[in-house]
Amino acid sequence: MAETPVLYPDDDISLIKGIGSKKKDQLEAAGISSVQDLLDYYPVKYKDRRRVINAMDAGTEKDSLVSGKLIKVTLRTLSGRRSMVECTLRDTSCIYHAVFFNMPYLKKSLVTGEDYILFGRMRIRNGARVWTNPEMSRAGGDRDIRGIIPVYRHSAGLTDINLRKWVRTALDRTDLGDDWLGEDIRAERRLAGLGFAYCNIHFPESEKHYKAARYRLIYDKLLMYQLAVRVSRSMREEGGLDASVPAVPLDDFLDSLPFELTEGQKKCIDEIMEDLGSSRPMNRLVQGDVGCGKTVVAEAAMYRCARSGMQSAMMAPTEILARQHFEKISAGLEPLGIRCALLVSGMRAPERRAVIDGVASGDIDVLIGTHAIIQKDVLFSGLALVVTDEQHRFGVAQRKTLAGKGRSVNVCVMSATPIPRTLAATVFGDMDFSIIRSMPGGRRPVITRAAGPEGREKAYVDAAGELEKGNRVYVIAPSIDSDDDDMTSVEKLFAEIKKRYPSYGAALLHGRLTGGEKAGIMEDFAAGRVSILVSTIVIEVGIDVPEATMIIIENCERFGLAQLHQLRGRVGRSDRQSYCWLINYSRSENSAARTKAMTEISDGFEISEVDYRLRGPGDLMGTMQSGNYNSDVLALSRYTDILEAAVEDADRIMADPGGTDIDHACERMIRESASDNSNII
Ligand code: ADP
Ligand code: MG
Repeated sequence: MAETPVLYPDDDISLIKGIGSKKKDQLEAAGISSVQDLLDYYPVKYKDRRRVINAMDAGTEKDSLVSGKLIKVTLRTLSGRRSMVECTLRDTSCIYHAVFFNMPYLKKSLVTGEDYILFGRMRIRNGARVWTNPEMSRAGGDRDIRGIIPVYRHSAGLTDINLRKWVRTALDRTDLGDDWLGEDIRAERRLAGLGFAYCNIHFPESEKHYKAARYRLIYDKLLMYQLAVRVSRSMREEGGLDASVPAVPLDDFLDSLPFELTEGQKKCIDEIMEDLGSSRPMNRLVQGDVGCGKTVVAEAAMYRCARSGMQSAMMAPTEILARQHFEKISAGLEPLGIRCALLVSGMRAPERRAVIDGVASGDIDVLIGTHAIIQKDVLFSGLALVVTDEQHRFGVAQRKTLAGKGRSVNVCVMSATPIPRTLAATVFGDMDFSIIRSMPGGRRPVITRAAGPEGREKAYVDAAGELEKGNRVYVIAPSIDSDDDDMTSVEKLFAEIKKRYPSYGAALLHGRLTGGEKAGIMEDFAAGRVSILVSTIVIEVGIDVPEATMIIIENCERFGLAQLHQLRGRVGRSDRQSYCWLINYSRSENSAARTKAMTEISDGFEISEVDYRLRGPGDLMGTMQSGNYNSDVLALSRYTDILEAAVEDADRIMADPGGTDIDHACERMIRESASDNSNII
């Protein structure tokens, strides 16, 4: 057998066989660009495909796993260059069939007389039992489809079958190198090896294997994070370069605002001004519910830097948000003589060049964009402040990246995600906190209602009422074009909405559109050219359209409470009464309790506590995570026993690393915080 080339975790994903440029793009859209990313793309749930049944006992209601001897294969050509491979199989109960459309090559690879395993939905055709396009493998072969099978989060064109194949390849071929964790710790905590952990998180051999794998991976993530927090803290304390920004009068800035600041905003600005006056770099987390007005607080800090001849960078998790911030911030600061620029990936080269040159020469005071702006080719002439929006983890490990940029940089992180008090100190141990609790005057709490699928009509009738008043409506669904019957897709919904409200403009927004397309749609919605925006979670954070007064969330059971709260925060952003409709398709008690909590509680901090209580550690076969939840440190921190172990070990490792590679932990955390644009707990 030819020697198979070895893969390394940092290798580009396209080195995996079968990943061409199109698949590579789709994977990258899902946040997977390296082999490591693929290994870290944990399943959201598993299918138990261990029990083979008699073909005679298979029902037509759900997929079934059957086995049998292949007794005949024929290839037929159908009209229009289509073809059908027809198989006849036999098990101890009956004779049955499998048909495959447009896969003529199967004719050659299937061997009569051999035993096969099939998985799929059975249908009765002319009295015969037929599986159409099932998954099929040689029994006992190395691609045997039996076992506990992973189901991945679907996104843009990726299928489970492909993902499973690629993950298998990655598992088989990747040289994980030496374990980054010291041997003593591994032995003492009885941790599984990394190779074992990756294999069993994707293809668990048993529930026990799965649990050991999950423990190791969660422990690693939490420990890496805890180490990064400690490194970041010690770098900040050791100081070195002076990070202070001279004080300037803020009157011009404050006078230019079209409103009075709330008490919370004033206090927060004071705290930030104090930080900026100190030679020790600022590392502050500003928390405040959606709509409390965090942006203006950041503007005050950027104003001070610009007036003192220093630069600021503001980073948003998505291009849409970056553009929105740019519009607002430049409208506020440009009239005061502060030069702002936007840098996003969709820009044309000359435009981009001009911005990069302006930043390097110091002509640009405030640079706004996505994370890319503190990376590689962007050199600042005097960067004093980095503000990150809706990205609570960003501040932690980035200090290392920033350290390479010259002076000590002040970091301010804005987050609407309320962090349970019980976790704040551990998870954000290297940060100072500001909390804005007051809301700008005149805001009314959003009225939240819930319905099952049978009651959803009412929501759409209400929406018609809002549209008639000239208001705008969001309709959210979890997937783009799912073939999963239990999950509403925005494409289906969009068709429904266009039919239902023909006299109002509707638009469809999802993650498969380019940054420019998304921005165009958001602008249309903000300007009122479009009244109904049907969208996936891409609109989650920070979008500000005051005229929107209703949000309908389909399949609300698919979202975390914090996410629902974020989504709900898209409305209620003016003095008009706003509404949120939650359509719950699940019959589980837990989701009923979660939905009920949303209708009763409007305070984000309280919601986070409820979420923390209701969302216990996941079980095998159940839904382990939703969305990017698996990769989020804050979410993982709810495994309090593992967190405790990680905190204890992090302290010990800092005192004496043993064989543990602390740099590796920091590098991983930096990379993740730069590539992961989720902000979900
Ligand atoms: P968030 O905290 O969610 O980021 P934003 O900064 O986007 O909130 O502010 C939400 C809206 O409230 C914006 O339109 C902003 O101009 C407005 N706003 C902010 N502060 C005040 C205030 N003190 N009074 C009235 N409106 C305000
Ligand atoms: Mg905001």
